[in-house]
Amino acid sequence: MTKEALLTIEAASNRSADEVAEILSQIVGRSNLSTDLDERQRNSQDIWSNSPLTVDMVVAPTSLEDLAKVVSAVTAAGYAIAPRGAGMSYTSAYIPTAERTVSLDMSRMNRVLEIDPEAMTVTVEPGCTWAALAQALAPHGLRTPFWGPMSGLTSTVGGGLSQLNAMFGAGHYGTSSESVIGLTIVLADGRVLKTGARAKGHAPFYRNYGPDLAGLFCGDAGVFGVKAEITLRLMRRPQHEGYVSFAFATGAALLSTMAEMARSGIASEMCAFDPGLTKVRMKRASLADDVKVLGQLIAKEGSLGKGLLSAAKTALGGRNFIEAEEYSVHVICEGRSKVGVSEDLDAARAIAKANGGHEIENTIAKVIRANPFPPLNSILGPEGERWAPVHGIASLGAALTLFEKCESLFAEMAPVFEQHGVYTGYLFTSLSTNALIIEPVFYWPEERNALIEATVEPQHLARLPSLAANPDATAVVAEARKRVIEICAELGCGHFQIGRSYPYLESRDEASVLLLETIKSALDPTGALNPGGLGLETPTARRS
Ligand SMILES: Cc1cc2nc3c(=O)[nH]c(=O)nc-3n(C[C@H](O)[C@H](O)[C@H](O)COP(=O)(O)OP(=O)(O)OC[C@H]3O[C@@H](n4cnc5c(N)ncnc54)[C@H](O)[C@@H]3O)c2cc1C
Repeated sequence: MTKEALLTIEAASNRSADEVAEILSQIVGRSNLSTDLDERQRNSQDIWSNSPLTVDMVVAPTSLEDLAKVVSAVTAAGYAIAPRGAGMSYTSAYIPTAERTVSLDMSRMNRVLEIDPEAMTVTVEPGCTWAALAQALAPHGLRTPFWGPMSGLTSTVGGGLSQLNAMFGAGHYGTSSESVIGLTIVLADGRVLKTGARAKGHAPFYRNYGPDLAGLFCGDAGVFGVKAEITLRLMRRPQHEGYVSFAFATGAALLSTMAEMARSGIASEMCAFDPGLTKVRMKRASLADDVKVLGQLIAKEGSLGKGLLSAAKTALGGRNFIEAEEYSVHVICEGRSKVGVSEDLDAARAIAKANGGHEIENTIAKVIRANPFPPLNSILGPEGERWAPVHGIASLGAALTLFEKCESLFAEMAPVFEQHGVYTGYLFTSLSTNALIIEPVFYWPEERNALIEATVEPQHLARLPSLAANPDATAVVAEARKRVIEICAELGCGHFQIGRSYPYLESRDEASVLLLETIKSALDPTGALNPGGLGLETPTARRS
């Protein structure tokens, strides 16, 4: 950066919040700039934490051009930028960590810009939700290989690439980033960087042309640049799906089954619960939800007769087909031929049997596919408790050790959990043919924040009690999460949603740290973009 440019920044950095708000509202229009305290506070919280600081304003650009102007105006005024998609994360990833922070709300850049069935690419703005993307592609008989997290009703493609996602399609195609072809990124000074092989003026059609610059911005927690356009690979929607579920007496049997199913590559996705999470699910579900889901099942089967049969079987199967102390896995297979899917289901049955599992009703697997993006009501427990997961990505060989170490920790902490009303469950899933995710989930009595209240459906919220503030219980959960993260570090686990919760920078070798810091200072010399994300510290130059 030239001396003149630095001097301009120095001079501009004395601007007041009112002056910055005025500049930004001239760029985006008054209706896309908010200084309302409630909105500022909501954007200073995530599902897990409330920042002690409050962002000065919330700005929501609606185009690439406006985004570039906004980012350069904010950084030139000496403010930090906290990019935010739908705010559906829980690792303090986008909340302010510095005075003078502008929340960059990407949810209004939500268009599907181009579906190109010939080139087999789709380009979206980053605020497009996974549900909206799937809906736009469905009439073309297309989808992206990874096609969304379970929060995809509101969570965004931009958020999902900035911190990486697991779930739909991940068993075959890996994480969200593995479906990326190219990105358009706005850098801290407003310059626009484009990745991938692309004809001039067109969307990229191939990711790999030289070093993988797209990869640099995948999982970056928004600290290297702001995603402005995202091009993903398309595939034809598999014509056939099959579902199968199994129960096991132990977590070891479940994990050994999941590891072997992952190696075999038979599941498009699988998801598994421990007895703790099964109990929560049983308590949580209501008759109204059941009726809705049965309707979705009927719609999905394509013919009324088949649909009614499937719904009737599901209803008869009821909710009590998993014994209270069992572990269950729900497997979805998909493919181009009925025979292929049926062979995958048989392979799953053989693996489960070899590990001591028995087949149970496939209701959960079916329901997951019939309604992949449900309302996000599960961010509160069945009695209105708070909810917060933590996770580790383990190699197939190390997943059981991670689970056992978490179990020992929870056994050690059982008296303090009991004293404060904390209880736990686990969600397990797989990533491609080479990793499992172990996700302990905590529930505890604590008041909900404004973001949670705005997220849960009003009729669901109305059924739940409002709990009182309970910082002691939250401190117990914070300690348990920290210790799970320490176990993960000890085992060399990977993580999504690094945000400000997982020790990324500390876990890298010296050469990697040097490279990451050099890239950060080249792309964002004043450290304005999401300071502290990934563990990259804020340079002192920018603010006092
Ligand atoms: C009920 C529930 C279910 C969930 N299920 C899953 C699941 O199945 N799989 C899974 O992986 N996760 C899941 N999650 C976690 C979470 O929803 C995802 O990680 C999701 O990707 C968050 O997306 P978001 O748009 O809300 O991002 P945010 O939380 O708003 O932001 C996430 C990060 O991305 C950055 N960011 C956002 N947009 C941009 C941008 N345009 N440019 C640069 N940086 C940006 C932010 O600064 C932040 O660091 C679930 C969460 C909930 C509440």
